[in-house]
Parts: sequence; structure tokens; C-alpha cells
Amino acid sequence: MSPDSTLTLANYIDGSLIPPRGGRYLDVFEPAIGQPFARCPDSDQGDIDAAVGAAQRAFPGWSTLHPEERAGHLQRIANAIQQRFEDFVAAESRDTGKPLALARALDIPRAMMNLRFFAAAASQFASESHSNGDGLNYTLRQPLGVVGCISPWNLPLYLFTWKIAPALAAGNTVVAKPSEVTPVTAWMFAQACIDAGLPAGVLNIVQGAGPGAGQALIDHPHIKAISFTGSTRTGAAIAAATAPKFKKVSLEMGGKNPTLVFADWEPSAKNWATLIRSAFSNQGQICLCGSRILVERGIYAEFKNAFVEKVRALRVGDPHDASSDLGAVVSRAHFDKVMSHIALAREEGGRILCGGDEVKVGGRCAGGWFIAPTVIEGLPADCRTNQEEIFGPVVTLLPFDSDDEAVAIANSTRYGLAASVWTSNLTRAHRVAARLESGIVWVNCWLRRDLRTPFGGVKDSGVGREGGAEALRFFTEPKNVCLALD
Ligand code: NAD
Repeated sequence: MSPDSTLTLANYIDGSLIPPRGGRYLDVFEPAIGQPFARCPDSDQGDIDAAVGAAQRAFPGWSTLHPEERAGHLQRIANAIQQRFEDFVAAESRDTGKPLALARALDIPRAMMNLRFFAAAASQFASESHSNGDGLNYTLRQPLGVVGCISPWNLPLYLFTWKIAPALAAGNTVVAKPSEVTPVTAWMFAQACIDAGLPAGVLNIVQGAGPGAGQALIDHPHIKAISFTGSTRTGAAIAAATAPKFKKVSLEMGGKNPTLVFADWEPSAKNWATLIRSAFSNQGQICLCGSRILVERGIYAEFKNAFVEKVRALRVGDPHDASSDLGAVVSRAHFDKVMSHIALAREEGGRILCGGDEVKVGGRCAGGWFIAPTVIEGLPADCRTNQEEIFGPVVTLLPFDSDDEAVAIANSTRYGLAASVWTSNLTRAHRVAARLESGIVWVNCWLRRDLRTPFGGVKDSGVGREGGAEALRFFTEPKNVCLALD
């Protein structure tokens, strides 16, 4: 690519799009072709200091705006995205390698919905009051000040706005850092904020790498809270760095989600389609994807044959092609990681029932990073393949004999983000759901999201909850006011 055709991204600080102070940039790759197409600021402490300063100056005005006015700003930003909807769809697909159809159906609509949802949620947010005869207590919910939001590459704008919208709605000002792997829609989002007339400094977007801009953000003394989504390893580093400074943290991290299929499940076309989607949507790069499929032994052989046949029929191809079910994985490094996990599964004695290899798409995508959807069986629940997050189009099949065994296998990892349970027995569904160590359990469905529900994981998958009132509570400090009644 010639230098002039490279897109150069900018930071959004104090209401303007500006270059990084140090003048350094990172290459941004198009996974479907394996070539760089943009440059993203490699920001440092100086950029973070400028962003935090702007956010501090904006805080008094923003936090005292009437909630309806803040909601109006969020609505206008959503409208600005709507006006360039197809540009956002194309950028998200190009930056991540996901099919255009997925970005059009999921990522960009959900980003707009996040903004609209929290615009409305802020006006519904209530707090408690307690009266006990001699005192009337009420709780004020006040914004924290300047908060930091850090997001990953798998659902870039979707997760970026999922944090920014409640933080702003609750009256905070924000310094946000998107993933350096997929920075383009965050830069476009900055332009949408400018177009929508968001006051300067209310939101600042600093692009850059984790160890540089990310670390400077979490270490900054004036950042009151960090809302993070990403890997468990980075979450642990953030927890360690922020704990001595007593910052509030919300950590949404990795998963190794179980899908429990009981012999009495309803194998309708609709359920099969959902189950396949739950494994391979976004090339398996959704933190909620089910990567361990536990199947009751009585139907194991029949299930396996049908499942493998359907997985083989999935098309891996150019994200532009409407018939592509899967696109490219996000980066060369991630491609190598997923392929090394497949090699490990072979070493551990796993049988590859389908996939297991790179897919050569050819044409414009000849240099892209594509992996065939892969199904593996024959591995014990405690091996590395069944314990470690792969975060790609790779699933294992594991038979079980009883509800107890299914729950034990499901709960046997360090993670606990999401699970799905497939059964026609309602009593079993409730019983099993209650016993799963998981922040979210879907019964006979997957990824049905009501944005009012608490979202997050247990064990090494998460600390705290996002969504609805939980997010607004995270981004506010409760203050008890007690009024004498005598
Ligand atoms: P990652 O942890 O490598 O990076 C996430 C973000 O953290 C990026 O913006 C990165 O630049 C930043 N970062 C990295 N090091 C940092 C540091 N020292 N200080 C501050 N920031 C730092 O994760 P990723 O590879 O981008 O994303 C994939 C992971 O995200 C998977 O583990 C997946 O399960 C998880 N995820 C979880 C959820 C959830 O809701 N639980 C949702 C999506 C993805």
C-alpha cells in the first residue's frame, strides 16, 4: 500500500481530532487481506495527561447538566452514527475481518442501541430511601469524576459504547482507549461526537497500545474508575495496578463457556442454527461463544454426526461476500495463537472431526488469516484444550452421563462467564441454571440480550456487572444523607 493511501487516525482530545504528541503510529491491518491499511496513534503519557486535563475541565459543566440534556447528546451521537451507518459497517468489517453482514446486523446497530438505551436509562435511574422513625435517609448517586474505559478488538464499537454510554449518562467525563488492533470505528465515533455537538472534553478518545496509553490511563491519579473488557491476564494487571490507589474497577474478562445439550433437547432447525451460531459467530471471537459442547451420552453419536455435517457446511470466505458465514480472525498473532491451540489439541490426543487447518480464500483475500471451523473430540475435561480460552473457531465435544456430571464438567474451569443449556425439561433447566458457576445462563437460546439485565462473569471471568442500573451504579458514588425527623 502506498503511504498516501494509508488512513491516518487521530486522537480526540478536548473536542478536536489531533495527532499524538510523540508523533508515533502503529500499523492497523485488514485481516482479510493481511495488509496494513491505516495508522493509529501510539499515544503515551503526554496524550493521556492532556485527555484527563480536558475531561477534568469539562466535568463541572457536564455533571450538572440536566440528565435529559445529557440524554439528548447521546441520542444525537446515535443519530450521527445512523447517518453514516454503512460507512461504520464497512470500517468494522475491514478492521476486524468479520463478515459485513455481521457488522450490519450486530455490531453497529448495537452500538447505537447502547447510546439510546443509556440515554433513556439515565432518566429511569432511581436511588433508595430508608426511614426509621427518627431519621430519613436517602441515597444520592453522584458521578465519580473522570473515568477510564478500555475495550478489546472483538466487538470494537459495540463494547466501546457499552462502557462510554453509561459513564456519560451518569454525569462522568471520560477518557477511553479502544483496542489498538481495531481502532478505526472509535476514530469515526469521535467524528460523530463532534458532528453531534458534544461539548469539548466530555469524551476523549486516546488511541494506542496497552502497555503505553493503556497503562498511563490506569495509573493516572485523576482517573477515578476503570471499566475494562479484555483478557483475564490484562484484567489481573489492571486489578493489581489500581488496587493500591483504591480505584473502582469493573473487569469483564475471558471465558471458556459450556454448552450443555441434554438428550431431551429439541433439535429443530432453529435450535440447530442458534447452537452453531453460539459456537462460531464472529469466528468464535465473542466472549460469550460456547467452546465446550457437553452432550448427553445417549445422543452423543447422533448429535456429533449432525453437528459436524452442519459445521462442514459453513462457508469461510471474503467478509464482503454475502454467503460467507465466517470471515478472517483478527490478526496474524491471533491466527498463530489459535493454530497453536489446534496443534496442542492434537498433541493431547484430540481427534479433529472437521476443520483444523488454515483456509486459503484466494483472490483479494489470498494473504488473509482464515481458519476453518474446527470440532475436536476425545479429550478429557481437564486438559489444556478444555481449560484454556482459545477465542477462535474451535470447539470440543464432551459426552456426559448425568446432570451432576454435566454441571461438574461445566464448572471445572477457572472461568465463569456464560453458559447455555438445551433441554425440554423445565425443572432440569432451572436446577442446572442455578448450579452453574456462570454470570449468564441461556436456556434454549443464546445471546438474547435485554440491556437491563446484569452482564458479567464470575471466577476469573469478571469482577462487577455491566448493563442497566448495574452500570449506572458502577459509574456513580452513593452518598447517604440522613435527615433528623425529631
Ligand atoms: P487484551 O486484554 O489484550 O486487550 C484489551 C484492551 O486492554 C486493549 O485496549 C488493550 O490495549 C488494553 N491493554 C492491554 N494491556 C494493558 C495494560 N497494561 N493497561 C491498560 N490497558 C491495557 O484483550 P483482547 O485480546 O483485546 O481481547 C480479547 C479478550 O477479551 C478475550 O479474552 C475475551 O474473552 C475478552 N472479552 C471479554 C468480554 C466480556 O464481556 N467478558 C467481551 C469481549 C472480549
